[in-house]
Amino acid sequence: MDFATRAIHAGQEPDQATGATIVPIYATSTYTQTAVGNHKGFDYSRVANPTRNALETQLAALEEASHCVAFASGLGAESAITSLLSSGDHVVVSDDTYGGTYRLFTRVLERFRITFTFVDMTDVPAVRAAIRPNTKMLWIETPTNPMLRIIDITAMVALKAPGQLVVVDNTFCTPYFQSPLALGADIVIHSATKYIGGHSDAMGGAAMTNDDAIAADLRLLQKTLGATLSPFEAFLISRGAKTLAVRMREHERNALAIAHFLAERDDVAEVFYPGLASHPQHELARTQMRGFGGIISMTLRGPESRALEVAKRTKLFALAESLGGVESLINHPARMTHGSIPKEERDRRGITDGLLRLSVGIEGVHDLIADLRQALDATSALAEITTAGALDPANPDAIPAMQNEGAPTY
Ligand SMILES: *Cc1c(COP(=O)(O)O)cnc(C)c1O
Repeated sequence: MDFATRAIHAGQEPDQATGATIVPIYATSTYTQTAVGNHKGFDYSRVANPTRNALETQLAALEEASHCVAFASGLGAESAITSLLSSGDHVVVSDDTYGGTYRLFTRVLERFRITFTFVDMTDVPAVRAAIRPNTKMLWIETPTNPMLRIIDITAMVALKAPGQLVVVDNTFCTPYFQSPLALGADIVIHSATKYIGGHSDAMGGAAMTNDDAIAADLRLLQKTLGATLSPFEAFLISRGAKTLAVRMREHERNALAIAHFLAERDDVAEVFYPGLASHPQHELARTQMRGFGGIISMTLRGPESRALEVAKRTKLFALAESLGGVESLINHPARMTHGSIPKEERDRRGITDGLLRLSVGIEGVHDLIADLRQALDATSALAEITTAGALDPANPDAIPAMQNEGAPTY
């Protein structure tokens, strides 16, 4: 069955009790038993809930996975997956990963004596060299966030030894554009808060696998750790996921047009988008992915503070954390999504104060381009200023106040 058909029909049988065509929101924490242990497969909603079950069936069908275990957020899913590890285990992880993942690993899990090696996973020999006898997981995010580099999933799978798991964060591509399980990954994780839900109105996460034993462990962790997806959120995410195919096509179409528009401007220094022929891994992206997605990053000519000016001036592109909704967003990774990564580490990864990330929505593309054009034009005089490097403290007027200064939390 086509992806678009699965998105609408998988898990959507009419309600057994009433015939309701759309899966109801089963807002119940518990279920009445007719005799001790005699129930209809549900006893407590942390363990199972019909609305959540329907979403899990739907998402498993989209990812073509035998199992989907849903969580209250992407990080809830990550907490469960990393709870498959034990003290003393080691993980090799992409050095250009989501800031919240970095924080979970370095601030929490390292205290449990799980160790992490962050490597540039586009460098296959470097990954091979990072693998140790106690390595239990390779943790991949591709395209990477926010630099949009592409990690070769097949090459990573080829490196793994028996007993090691390859985990792929498929949030950026969604199953519409990329199928890591088919390439040999053991577990796929999603922040369903992003494209899968697609409307920036619900938080959720999912872990998918074809391995029955891993699925059983994740089920145990789902009922044990408590990052429980509520039936309301499950309903919203399921409703959003029905249009995933149409939305992803539009996100990509708009993003391609915007990437070309940006690449042609003299006052834009670099555009990072795997769909551009100039992207260093464009060929790998073409073979590994069925589309290039809706996220673009860029640096501008001029001082780094120009990025802050542009972020302040866009109107349709809302200045906000997150990504993957129908509405376009602009984000300053160094001070927003990736603020929990130390500055030296950020600079090493290219996440400078001059970098902007766009989550291209599905509005009319001419309106989106006009919005970016006016913000770039209004600041293009700054492009002539060649003072590279940090924000200029001698010229505070050029620096807008930072809401997130000090304690970025995402
Ligand atoms: C947002 C995000 C997460 C975390 O998901 P939440 O739903 O915010 O907990 C993980 N990975 C990636 C790539 C993300 O963008």
